[in-house]
Amino acid sequence: MDIDEKLIEQIVRNVIEKVVSPGSAGPGFQTSAANIKKGPLFDNIETAIAAAKEAQKRFVDMGRDARYGIVEAIKKVSLANAEKWAKIAVEETGMGRVEDKIVKNIVAAERTLGPEDLEIKSYSRCCMDNGALTVDMAPYGVIAAITPMTNPAPMIINNTIIMISAGNSVVFLPHPSAKKVTLDALLIVHKAIVDAGGPENLITSTQEPNIKNASICMAHKDIDLICATGGPAIVEIAMKSGKKVLGAGPGNPPVLVDDTADIARAAREIVAGASFDNNILCNEEKVLICMRPVADKLLNEFGKNNCQVLNAEEAQRVTNLVVKNGEIDKKLMGKNCAVILKQAGINAKDDLRLAVFVTNDEMHLLVQHEQLMPILPMLIVNSFEEGVRIACRVEHNFKHTAIIHSTNIERITYYAQEINTTTVQVNGSSQRSGGDLHNGGSSWTIAGATGEGCTTPRSFTRQRRLSIYGSMNFVK
Ligand code: NAD
Repeated sequence: MDIDEKLIEQIVRNVIEKVVSPGSAGPGFQTSAANIKKGPLFDNIETAIAAAKEAQKRFVDMGRDARYGIVEAIKKVSLANAEKWAKIAVEETGMGRVEDKIVKNIVAAERTLGPEDLEIKSYSRCCMDNGALTVDMAPYGVIAAITPMTNPAPMIINNTIIMISAGNSVVFLPHPSAKKVTLDALLIVHKAIVDAGGPENLITSTQEPNIKNASICMAHKDIDLICATGGPAIVEIAMKSGKKVLGAGPGNPPVLVDDTADIARAAREIVAGASFDNNILCNEEKVLICMRPVADKLLNEFGKNNCQVLNAEEAQRVTNLVVKNGEIDKKLMGKNCAVILKQAGINAKDDLRLAVFVTNDEMHLLVQHEQLMPILPMLIVNSFEEGVRIACRVEHNFKHTAIIHSTNIERITYYAQEINTTTVQVNGSSQRSGGDLHNGGSSWTIAGATGEGCTTPRSFTRQRRLSIYGSMNFVK
């Protein structure tokens, strides 16, 4: 059969499918999976997996070029729904700020890399000058993507784009407390995929998110990869599953300010980073470490940037409020700064972005654990080396994110080498560390635990080689 005949057959098949079963995945799909009900939200996880498996096969048969149009369609609907999803997310989860969540949704839509991230490499004259080698990036198949409640809509936008750009289908396992917004985003993105010519059920989930689904996926023969984005518990469980896992766990990013830094800029950038969406992103400034000679100046600059510096007594009141039974109170995570301060009996203006308090206790719970709220502890150190040592300790080797404000390149280099995180941000807020479409792309699944780092489509591919001996070295 030559190429024209193949094309004609494909067109006829498409037309028949539309006529026979408008809006369905087509007769081939129905024959091989007759008992799969219409998705993408299924009664149980097994059916969601079966449907995604079938869809993945159909998707790769469409060829890589088809992915570009589908990704563009996802980006378009995501931008159109950015504000709506921001509002529902705040309403449902009680976390974060609508204006910041709109930015998150837009960034996820505009800056996530698509199929252009995949790369085929070809080498001629290998095999002792007598052959050729092609290295390509193949999909895994069906991915189970566990998503956090802190970024529900951006995760659907970003994870869908990066995973399907690599040719996979995705079974999403949303956080039950972010069900409404996550499933709304999933349905709208799914419709965009289908409207752009993609197969139904390329992304699926269950009507009722349930954490038990994660263990079913981890043991299921048709799940080829687990992508776990969330706190330490779920990443640990996933890594014990025996399957290929991308583990994107917690961060506790330290920000170190030395005595050579531009202090006014450092204060501005730290407030912007640590207050964004009320500090619920994993990569935000969670612990501030400052060298003694510039500490007062930094505290003074905070006051000019809509940030309240708490005195020792106020800091104790906030600590008593947010620490419950040795843990950070989940009910206060993601709340506005003014809400937390007022509950602690401290006056605060309603639009306050951040509160900072000084502590000399390295073991303070808000120093050791990600607080996920706009309250930033600050440790003062006597030397740069002491600051680096503490930064490494509080980062807990999560290999996530670290920030430094300094103009001394030797110190910046030393910090980056010692802390060994996926991302080191220099002289800017943590939120400046994301790439754009020309520089690495925006990543919402930072896999520090398993080493893939800031994930893009290529992170969800298997490398495959085709090697030919004795021919195809066509240039003499
Ligand atoms: P979480 O750990 O409570 O939940 C994350 C996901 O795991 C949810 O879908 C939840 O339902 C599931 N889950 C949790 N415990 C489970 C269990 N025992 N069995 C099965 N499923 C389980 O986290 P969260 O509050 O939704 O999100 C915040 C956390 O995620 C923070 O720790 C943050 O740092 C981290 N995070 C990391 C990244 C990254 O890229 N590394 C990105 C976003 C969030």
